[in-house]
Amino acid sequence: MPSAIAQAAVMSAFREPIRVQDFPVPTELALGDVLVRVEMAGMCGTDVHLHQGELKVPLPLIMGHETVGRVAAMGGAVNDWLGRPLTVGQRVTWTVGLTCGQCRYCRVYRLPSRCLNRRAYGVNLPCDKSPHLLGGYAQFHHLRAGTAIFAMPDYLRTESVVGAGCALVTAIHGYERMPLRRGESLVVQGAGPVGLAALAVAKDAGCGPIVVIGGPADRLERCVRFGADVTIDIGAMREPEARLKRVRDLTEGLGADVVVECVGQPAAVAEGWELCRDGGRYLVLGQYCDAGPTMLNPHLIVRKELSIFGSYGSEPQHWAASLEFLRTKAEQFPFHECVTHRFRLDQVNEALQAVARWQTGKAVILPNG
Ligand SMILES: [Zn+2]
Ligand SMILES: [Zn+2]
Repeated sequence: MPSAIAQAAVMSAFREPIRVQDFPVPTELALGDVLVRVEMAGMCGTDVHLHQGELKVPLPLIMGHETVGRVAAMGGAVNDWLGRPLTVGQRVTWTVGLTCGQCRYCRVYRLPSRCLNRRAYGVNLPCDKSPHLLGGYAQFHHLRAGTAIFAMPDYLRTESVVGAGCALVTAIHGYERMPLRRGESLVVQGAGPVGLAALAVAKDAGCGPIVVIGGPADRLERCVRFGADVTIDIGAMREPEARLKRVRDLTEGLGADVVVECVGQPAAVAEGWELCRDGGRYLVLGQYCDAGPTMLNPHLIVRKELSIFGSYGSEPQHWAASLEFLRTKAEQFPFHECVTHRFRLDQVNEALQAVARWQTGKAVILPNG
């Protein structure tokens, strides 16, 4: 068994500095539980929103929901989600959400992302009660029995999985809710991790032209590397009217077949509806946290006959699809290159600032150095 103490970065209050604390590492695991030594934990934009208090999550909390580690101990024999026996020392990743399988959403509506008893590692499982270590910003992570764990093949880089993070599963889930058709024109609003993932999956589905609206320049350059046909720098083209004109010029004067919101700022939605052609489809991915209401013109839904889709979180099959995507498309979509900033556990506050200022491709925490 590992050493008896593990350090973790704990958020005890919103908008206050996060501090490193010691927690006991469980010495005995219940049947089906798995203890993982964390190798790398991604910092998601959601963590910035959580720290700002935009989602009323329970505190104190160890954040981190994009994590790769190695199995340190298991409570009996445990299989991964694909039915493969896990072994100590194996590299694994796992889904954020824990669902009950019993409620109406799990059973009747087949919508486990809306499970009435849903719990999410690093989001709404506080660390004040045993087993404490339920987020990625820690030296060890406790996985409850029933967690969808995935063994990682040797040739799948840790950086690929953390670099894609929950953005790729979010995009895969979103396009399951709103399927894409080959040859469709598509606008991605936002050049951050979710925008990049939404672009990659759409490119792989044969969409084009694909336009990304966002910034700053280094993020847009990465979007071009991932197959964006055109990028629009919001820093250079500040007026929404100018961006609308540019998109229309690229789409026979009509607007895009599909627009995907990956910004997280409510005002983006109003602009996005304008960017759709009549009969177009609009997918909202970026508003996982509640950043508040915005002014919208519902007349556009009627006049344009818009279809509007939302997608919340992800399910285990999206993680399986994501890992396969990363395994087979690493050359075309080098998500491992997104990992640009590495921080120690005691630098989580700096990492949050860097992410909030859009200074990173992907910031990661290395809790074990
Ligand atoms: Zn996330
Ligand atoms: Zn449920």
